[in-house]
Amino acid sequence: MSSPATPASRPTSPLTRSARSARTASPAAASAGTAIAGTAATKTASRKAPAKKATAKKVTAKKVTAKKATAKQAPAKKATAKKATARTASARSAGAGALVAAEPRTALVRRARRMDRILADTYPQAHCELDFTTPLELTVATILSAQSTDVRVNLTTPALFARYPDAAAYAGADRGELEEMIHSTGFYRNKTTSLIGLGQALCDRFGGQVPGRLEDLVTLPGVGRKTANVILGNAFGVPGITVDTHVGRLSRRFGWTDETDPERVEQVLMGLFVRRDWTMVSHRVIFHGRRCCHAKKPACGACPLAALCPSYGEGPTDPVVAAKLITYGPGAGP
Ligand code: SF4
Repeated sequence: MSSPATPASRPTSPLTRSARSARTASPAAASAGTAIAGTAATKTASRKAPAKKATAKKVTAKKVTAKKATAKQAPAKKATAKKATARTASARSAGAGALVAAEPRTALVRRARRMDRILADTYPQAHCELDFTTPLELTVATILSAQSTDVRVNLTTPALFARYPDAAAYAGADRGELEEMIHSTGFYRNKTTSLIGLGQALCDRFGGQVPGRLEDLVTLPGVGRKTANVILGNAFGVPGITVDTHVGRLSRRFGWTDETDPERVEQVLMGLFVRRDWTMVSHRVIFHGRRCCHAKKPACGACPLAALCPSYGEGPTDPVVAAKLITYGPGAGP
């Protein structure tokens, strides 16, 4: 394991460079604007100087009071920030699990939301990477994605969706033909059973339509909570946390939870984030897990979350070495 560097010495992430330059552009523009405003103010002041003397004194007095107040608050703020950094640093040496035990609830919520904001800046394009146009297509694609990759599934589904356009088509599918069509996604026998069963259940109980409620979705063959939340969040606009392999793994690395059961991880994350963000939090964490925080060799030295992550150092911290580990999904950009 590489030894962790201090937050101040951490490298600039190639993932966040564009977001940072956008942020730094604003202060520059603001400072230019202030300079222009300042010149005009000086000219006006030189003309009206005597009348304004008393007002100017009052303003100066106010500034002094404000400075004193700020000076009083500053040490308190610094101390709080130092405490948080120290907590993360000490937990880092003991592992993410220690942070879960030691971090106060409010600090955890703040840190988790800060991490999500950084991920939002880093992956503004985060989305469900399965191709679909209807709830049925998304349900089928999600069933096929088990033990497979979204890329592989997206290569398989165009022909599949054309051959089986509705629930009745899956219900009456020829088993051998369907197996052949989805063979490349792996576990094709089980998946064929699920797809035929899905078609039959939708026709028998839901008028051939995919239902928009979690309690109905989880009764369908091949659909568990994870798949149900993917369908709700992306086909029906109902917020949901999807705990797939990436979300579970990264939630533990981030020190958000030490739970290993997906349903319990889902409950923890639902408590950390506001409901409207649930679907996008899942997409952003999945994007980060696929591109930067890999299972075997996370790109810590190029990670935008380095300063807030108790697992910093699990992967290479050298910026050049880490940058080479960053991968980008097809069609998704950096
Ligand atoms: S890449 Fe490293 S620093 Fe970034 S989230 Fe993963 S473990 Fe933490």
